Amino acid sequence: MTKVIDHINNAKGKTLFSIEILPPRRGDGIKKLFNEIEPLMEFGPKFIDVTYHREEFIYKKRENGLLEKASIRKRPGTVAICAALTNKFQVDTVPHIICGGFTKEETENALIDLNFLGIDNILALRGDAIKTESRFEPTPGGHNYASDLIKQVSELNNGNYLNCEVENSIATDFCIGVAGYPEKHFEAPNFDTDLNYLKKKVELGAEYIVTQMFFDNQKYFDFVKRCREADINVPIIPGIKPLTSKGQLTVLPSIFHIDLPADLVKAVMECKNKEDIKKVGIDWAIMQSKELAHFGVPCLHYYSMGKSDTISKIAGEIF
Ligand code: FAD
Repeated sequence: MTKVIDHINNAKGKTLFSIEILPPRRGDGIKKLFNEIEPLMEFGPKFIDVTYHREEFIYKKRENGLLEKASIRKRPGTVAICAALTNKFQVDTVPHIICGGFTKEETENALIDLNFLGIDNILALRGDAIKTESRFEPTPGGHNYASDLIKQVSELNNGNYLNCEVENSIATDFCIGVAGYPEKHFEAPNFDTDLNYLKKKVELGAEYIVTQMFFDNQKYFDFVKRCREADINVPIIPGIKPLTSKGQLTVLPSIFHIDLPADLVKAVMECKNKEDIKKVGIDWAIMQSKELAHFGVPCLHYYSMGKSDTISKIAGEIF
């Protein structure tokens, strides 16, 4: 398997193609996912990111009428899907590993599983608050921030396992990616503070950054400039999400804390039907991608949300 950073270095300045997918919903099979990904393989994605979804709590009514709290994960299977995709398509995969919901020991076990599977890439994230919390609460015995998780992975990369000296321990060799926010992470008091914490993640061992989605390339260009001025010098991969419905005009800003450019909003509002909206979204993503590729970004990373048709149309124009 090849690490993301090696793919970037081997490309010698050529812009790569990659995608992010979501695991199928609990109860769905993997075949649908394979069918969605297959058409994208002709564009040669160098890696596929697989998101991680935390548990959610539901209340089930017991026979005696009392409510029982149960934990479910709506999209389980991140690690298994990574292994299955590599096996089926001979493509590198990047499982997302989050702090929320895990103790350090559970994280170590997950990393050992990945190491045994030959998966050498991870995207290290904090994760968001679960629905029943108003803000992110670290799991007792787990990590507060992505930087703490990176520290643990870097320790393992040096052969240092938790809690005890392991004789002749095998050092792992993970390539660590992290998230960056061209429009600032919503909890950060200001942009510079957020950038300082991003720098810390890189100093602790992150080798590249993947950005939150943005729809105005100037936000990415400004972000890269500010990173470089702050001496953050790793590759910064832009994340692109094609807009596909009118509802996303309000859903995307509220979930991802991003702005949508006035021209894009106007074009969507003028559409007569769903197909027209999809076309506006695809054309916008093509325009963004062409400009970013011209700027010389290391990779164009598409948030596919498990749907290949829009990404195929965009990739067909770029790669
Ligand atoms: P951190 O880097 O820990 O930052 C979180 C906040 O804390 C920021 O405001 C930061 O400024 C601040 N901060 C950081 N370090 C410190 C410190 N040491 N002291 C004080 N403050 C600090 N979520 C999922 O649940 N699953 C996924 O698969 C997933 N994939 C994602 C992929 C990408 C590319 C992106 C951009 C996001 C993804 N997310 C995912 C969402 C992510 O988990 C949330 O955005 C989360 O709120 C922050 O994660 P982070 O890793 O950026 O956190």
